[in-house]
Amino acid sequence: MSLTAQLDLLRQAVDQARQAIVDDGGRPGDHLEVVVEDDNSAAHYFTADLPGYRGWRWCAVVATAGEGDDVTVSEVVLLPGDGALLAPAWVPWSERIAAGDLGPGDQLAAEPGDPRLVPNQIDNGDEAALGDLELGLGRRRVLSPEGRDETAQRWYDGEYGPDSAMAQAAKNRCETCGFYLPLAGALRHSFGACANEYAADGHVVSAEYGCGAHSDVVAKAPSSAPQFDPFDDGVLEVFATAD
Ligand code: SF4
Repeated sequence: MSLTAQLDLLRQAVDQARQAIVDDGGRPGDHLEVVVEDDNSAAHYFTADLPGYRGWRWCAVVATAGEGDDVTVSEVVLLPGDGALLAPAWVPWSERIAAGDLGPGDQLAAEPGDPRLVPNQIDNGDEAALGDLELGLGRRRVLSPEGRDETAQRWYDGEYGPDSAMAQAAKNRCETCGFYLPLAGALRHSFGACANEYAADGHVVSAEYGCGAHSDVVAKAPSSAPQFDPFDDGVLEVFATAD
């Protein structure tokens, strides 16, 4: 049998493909197309009217070993066609998780190769942040230079950075404030904690952040403007009355 005749045999096996789908529990609709896969196989596609599978198609692959051999069915599958309704691409949890997702009792382990951390045996260029701990002792992992830079940029761009509305409206910067507690280590010149309970208390603030509760802010002296004159309700105003 010539190759052309063999391929014709595969193309003509529409009923055989349809029956294979029915035998598999499917209900194939119209025959859509046949795609020759190679010299020995072809895939027949049929419409599939299945609830929840809009645009999907039944596919039955038929094959023959060659001259004199019967056409047989290799597999039956349901495949998405153009514009088929598909589930969203799967995203690993480590990429889905966002800041603020961590709740009480949750466990969130940093990935073994997390670039924000390096083993403590490695010099991370921030001796001061290691404190009295010797290299290789104490904390098993410390911030890597990359993790430190990423953190600094996030804090700088965040709510307590110089571009926030509060900082933009403030005259004084945290770096000159008595409530400002500089961090230790490589970030000490750029960030600190605010110790003012009426301001950003307990938050890491940029040295370039600022607010109206800066320790140098002086209370305004009472204004002498008429609208602020005290009202003395002890003064009696006497009016003459007509008898
Ligand atoms: S009180 Fe205001 S200016 Fe002072 S450290 Fe806190 S946030 Fe900065």
